[in-house]
Amino acid sequence: MKAHSYRVDEGEGDTMQSLELTEVSAGYGRNEVIHGISLSIIEPSIYVVLGPNGAGKTTLFRTIGGILKPSSGQVKLDDVDLFYSKEARKRITYLSHLNALPEEMTVFNALKYYADIEGGDAEHVLDLLNLRDLKDKKYTSLSQGQKKRVSIGKIFLRDRDLYLLDEPTSNVDPKISKEIRDILIKLSKEKFVLYSSHNLYEAREIGTYLILIKNGELKFFDKIENVKTKQYRVGVKSLNDISKLLPESKLDNGYYVVTVDSPKMVAKIINDLVQAGAELVEVRELDNPLQEFFEE
Ligand code: ADP
Repeated sequence: MKAHSYRVDEGEGDTMQSLELTEVSAGYGRNEVIHGISLSIIEPSIYVVLGPNGAGKTTLFRTIGGILKPSSGQVKLDDVDLFYSKEARKRITYLSHLNALPEEMTVFNALKYYADIEGGDAEHVLDLLNLRDLKDKKYTSLSQGQKKRVSIGKIFLRDRDLYLLDEPTSNVDPKISKEIRDILIKLSKEKFVLYSSHNLYEAREIGTYLILIKNGELKFFDKIENVKTKQYRVGVKSLNDISKLLPESKLDNGYYVVTVDSPKMVAKIINDLVQAGAELVEVRELDNPLQEFFEE
């Protein structure tokens, strides 16, 4: 595993080696929400935790974050139980899907407030998330997207080993979402990032690994590139009529839609069409290979 190049906390401890969940069940009172989840994560990367609403993603994050006590099983960071070790919990940070910062403080004062408690550098965060213009605004006066940026800023006050981010790009406009994803992609070269989403497209864009949760159970854990799909649908837009060149295709919303068994076929189709005189303006994948996970 790659050595980490920096730590700004007390300097104690080593590079994180693993997050290990063993038969973890947890919930609220008698309502068990996640059931016997076992996972072993040993490489810095982005792990997208994907699942429909209500699947148990937030509950899983709260359990890993040491907020909820597992009703059975254990969550260990480098062999130390996260629920019982304050030291181990200092190595992680959790971004809730609810934005929660002190409403009446200015952005800078709120960041400074947390930096004073948890350690870290509020100035650095203003630059990292492009928050200088919002510095003196009250948190309560910000838009949803701005609030999200500030909340994300909070998790970057201090260096951590494991970042638990619950839907970090919900309610954020596409430009900011992209900025946030770029920061996280860079971060994940050295750090462990768990990123929950219910968006299939986002999962493919950002994730290296996929953890699929459904009805509180772990359904899949592997590299996203190993997700197999049965068929791909590809839409082709052309300035001229290509219906005769693609007799099998159906015209849908201006796209000639063809079904292929492998993405490799797409290059051949495009090549053949261009050779035959098609004036192509767009080719796009219409289905997401993760789609089938969401089907009953
Ligand atoms: P997701 O993040 O995948 O949308 P959650 O973990 O938030 O899923 O929710 C899973 C289930 O747990 C839901 O049925 C929800 O009603 C229940 N749940 C979530 N939070 C609480 C809570 N604080 N108290 C009781 N039940 C809860």
